Amino acid sequence: MNRPSTVIAGAGLSGLTTAISLAQADWPVEIFDAAPDSGWGRKGTWDAIENWTTEADFLTQLDRWKIFRSFDCRPVHNFEVYDSSGECHTLTSPRPFLYLVKRGCQPGTLEYALKEQTLKSGITIHYNQRRSHGDVDVWAVGAQHRGQFLGVGLRFQTHHPDAVKLLISTSHAPKAYAYLFIVEGQGVLSVILTRNFANARSYLQRSLAFFRQVSPFDMENVCLTSGFGGRKTDSPQRETTPLRVGEAAGFQDYLWGFGIRYALRSGYLAAQAIAHGSDYHQAVRAQIRPLVDNSLFNRAVYNRVGDRAYRFLIGWFSRSPHVFELLGGRYRASVLAQLFWRLRTAQPDVLAHGGHK
Ligand SMILES: Cc1cc2nc3c(=O)[nH]c(=O)nc-3n(C[C@H](O)[C@H](O)[C@H](O)COP(=O)(O)OP(=O)(O)OC[C@H]3O[C@@H](n4cnc5c(N)ncnc54)[C@H](O)[C@@H]3O)c2cc1C
Repeated sequence: MNRPSTVIAGAGLSGLTTAISLAQADWPVEIFDAAPDSGWGRKGTWDAIENWTTEADFLTQLDRWKIFRSFDCRPVHNFEVYDSSGECHTLTSPRPFLYLVKRGCQPGTLEYALKEQTLKSGITIHYNQRRSHGDVDVWAVGAQHRGQFLGVGLRFQTHHPDAVKLLISTSHAPKAYAYLFIVEGQGVLSVILTRNFANARSYLQRSLAFFRQVSPFDMENVCLTSGFGGRKTDSPQRETTPLRVGEAAGFQDYLWGFGIRYALRSGYLAAQAIAHGSDYHQAVRAQIRPLVDNSLFNRAVYNRVGDRAYRFLIGWFSRSPHVFELLGGRYRASVLAQLFWRLRTAQPDVLAHGGHK
């Protein structure tokens, strides 16, 4: 029997994962993207994939989903966190905290690898072709509007050795953070903001000065980067078609702005639902929604505390022999989180005043 093709809008991370997983089930797929290529606009910068919200390691998950690891990927077993007083805390774990991956449309990036696998599966990707919500089966179009997070950064080349550094300080990135990744001579320094977007450049300058003071590094071929992530309001999907995946569904870690794992996982789950008849919404409720909800809870708490609390938290984490479990625990349902959700449902305004400004 000839099945009609499943039509996907968006050849980014979630759309390509959906397509690859459908192809593995011999399901016909067509995929459309508004941009000239997958990963267009990211130009090979290093992003971080968190590895603490699931029992399974990120790479093990990829193997289970039969996603090829043909992209540049660096495990991070230790990194430095600076608090507002400038004190450096080192976090170390035998299991990688993070995986650094390259984003963009060039060889070596995550998007390029997913695109290659999609094309090798015999799927046609139509670039420069925007689709509307009503015309497709899967809506994988990413964060469409100005979102909760603004990332402003610098991409550069340097002679400095590899480094992964994080700065949590209200005067450098209010209610968020700044980071410096250097991998094999390629650096990215970014400030992630959840407020005061108008002052983004001055926070970036301040963070640059901070990182250069603690560990001087040269910079060549510097480019400015920026982008929004995370929907401002996360609303559970109500309609059944098209299936929303990735950031188009609001799947995102609202504490740190991580969205890559959610995009891949939701793409895989959507394909299982289409090809094997499983319930996508139930799978999302079981596997993704609790993590997103807990990240919203963590974000609400984070918005209410200041530098002293961050210092305490960083110190606690860095001294603990169980830092990995502590980090993961921030995402598992706690009594406090359950209380928060009950309060939010009953009295939505009670917790609203400390949110996004
Ligand atoms: C600057 C920045 C830094 C980030 N850093 C990190 C990080 O370090 N770690 C992390 O985990 N996450 C990070 N994120 C978030 C992460 O990039 C996203 O969560 C992830 O890319 C979401 O995948 P997606 O498939 O939902 O959307 P995308 O990967 O954005 O793909 C959406 C695709 O849909 C296409 N499209 C849009 N509209 C249409 C339409 N109407 N029709 C057809 N195609 C359409 C777009 O061209 C795009 O190719 C960052 C985001 C930004 C902006």
